Amino acid sequence: TPALSIRGLTKVYGNGFHALKGIDLDVQQGDFFALLGPNGAGKSTTLGVVCSLVQKSAGQISIFGIDTDRDFARAKYHLGVVPQEFNFNQFEKVIDIVLAQAGYYGMSRSEALPRAKRLLGDLGLWDKRDGSARMLSGGMKRRLMIARALMHRPKLLILDEPTAGVDIELRRSMWEYLRRINREEGTTIILTTHYLEEAESLCRNVAIINHGEIIRNTSVRALLTEL
Ligand code: ADP
Ligand code: ADP
Repeated sequence: TPALSIRGLTKVYGNGFHALKGIDLDVQQGDFFALLGPNGAGKSTTLGVVCSLVQKSAGQISIFGIDTDRDFARAKYHLGVVPQEFNFNQFEKVIDIVLAQAGYYGMSRSEALPRAKRLLGDLGLWDKRDGSARMLSGGMKRRLMIARALMHRPKLLILDEPTAGVDIELRRSMWEYLRRINREEGTTIILTTHYLEEAESLCRNVAIINHGEIIRNTSVRALLTEL
């Protein structure tokens, strides 16, 4: 079973704009996958639909074989999401933000606390845990969203432009961290990016999207030999 399977996905926004024009995509379990394309191509829309934040107009999506129309409640347990916009309450404490997430997914406090310590520690945020999130730098906020998304041990991690606006040093350390969880925990990772370099240095497979259509779907290695 693929981690993610998309068939005939179409999105027409309320203003009549056709953002996705019948997308087919499979991402295999354990893959590190990039959805690569210029601004406005439809990357966020695709992820939004997969995460059920955006309503699709037509098509089918399954997550580890679970049809999201039939049972999104079950599919979402497999899914960790790092959106592009900061979407946590900036006035909450860092530790409370990640623990609340664990609560939503039914983890006990005794399970959640060591998990939070591990994730915040690995992401360099453990000594910030009792401060409010608004005190964090932009890069730290992004890492906080990664820690939060991983709390319930999702098998599929989806990140929308994870390193946009992040400086080069932090970008490299985020890349290293994502590689590690893909390798060590077997987490399937899908990210969107408009940097070829990011897809190239991180991902095994890539789909190129433009004007709401997938125009290539291949291995990064094969793509690079063509350039
Ligand atoms: P839907 O068809 O999914 O309900 P809408 O067209 O109603 O989506 O728009 C949802 C929100 O996105 C609205 O707040 C709208 O102002 C905003 N929006 C509209 N056009 C754009 C755009 N081109 N890019 C980003 N957001 C937009
Ligand atoms: P990307 O993530 O690749 O930059 P998006 O999925 O955000 O692209 O947007 C794809 C296209 O859909 C863009 O042209 C954008 O302006 C348009 N769009 C996004 N959201 C809305 C919306 N709510 N209403 C109308 N158009 C939208």
